[in-house]
Amino acid sequence: RSLTAADADGDDRAVEAALRPRTLDEVVGQERVREQLSLVLEAARGRGRAPDHVLLSGPPGLGKTTLAMIIAAEVGSPLRLTSGPAITHAGDLAAILSGLHEGDVLFVDEIHRMSRPAEEMLYVAMEDFRVDVVIGKGPGATAIPLELPPFTLVGATTRAGLLPGPLRDRFGFTGHLEFYETADLERIVRRSAALLEVELTDEGAGEIASRSRGTPRIANRLLRRVRDYAQVRADGVVTHPIARAALELYEVDESGLDRLDRAVLDALCRRFGGGPVGVSTLAVAVGEERETVEEVAEPFLVRTGLLARTPRGRVATPAAWTHLGLAVPADAAF
Ligand code: ADP
Repeated sequence: RSLTAADADGDDRAVEAALRPRTLDEVVGQERVREQLSLVLEAARGRGRAPDHVLLSGPPGLGKTTLAMIIAAEVGSPLRLTSGPAITHAGDLAAILSGLHEGDVLFVDEIHRMSRPAEEMLYVAMEDFRVDVVIGKGPGATAIPLELPPFTLVGATTRAGLLPGPLRDRFGFTGHLEFYETADLERIVRRSAALLEVELTDEGAGEIASRSRGTPRIANRLLRRVRDYAQVRADGVVTHPIARAALELYEVDESGLDRLDRAVLDALCRRFGGGPVGVSTLAVAVGEERETVEEVAEPFLVRTGLLARTPRGRVATPAAWTHLGLAVPADAAF
């Protein structure tokens, strides 16, 4: 018996797995990617072939892993999971590839963070279903070609633009995941609440959805924290006032900005006069990795119109100053 969401509760990773949609029909929102993907899968099925390699791009928590699992389920094959940072040597990748069976689906998360030699090995594997295993070193080294069975690679990346062109070109289909509309997040929150056996009102669901940064993973996480609050401070039912009070306690503001988003905006406005400022400088100012600022905080700030990326650097929009409760300076860069 597989673990239900209610059983798994308490262990965040297990809950996340239990809340994952299992079929394309269960996936909420992302209509375009869903329709595109379902065509790719159905056509491959009709031809009796492994589907083309699929690249999924978009900020963390929007459903890339979920879609990879669904692809494997639709193909009827096991999903083999790995990630770019786990593949430090080409040999790591050779070992994974040579263990594949016909029709397997290989999921490589954070594929943009793979090492260069591994990347080059992957090009060949994707195109010719072959790896060249190099034996020995220096002038005496020989490459022994190893045939691979047809498989489907599903790559995930936070930004498709980070992938080198040759790798990007070898994917037959690229799906771009967008931040979710509040109405879709509301459906996700209601679905998760039912699975977790949490009672919540429509207004409670709406409040959680509108503060979830357009991200299902965050919606599910906030639901669990609000549920804790409802259980300890009230009668367990997630109502509108309960949701508001809980989210305030966890420092999620009305636009869904979290601590990092606010730190970035704050540094941009107060320390750098609204910019333009380079993203590396901004990252140092908030004590975070450049990638985290660039791939986690920025996409949402850009989408909500609080920050703009310009050729000269990051710039705060007038809305950013207002959001921080500051007056927009007359000489602001925007
Ligand atoms: P990513 O791989 O892009 O970081 P995941 O696929 O791990 O994101 O999704 C994070 C969580 O959000 C999962 O637990 C899943 O339940 C939920 N989720 C993501 N997309 C959807 C969706 N379209 N509908 C319902 N739940 C979703």
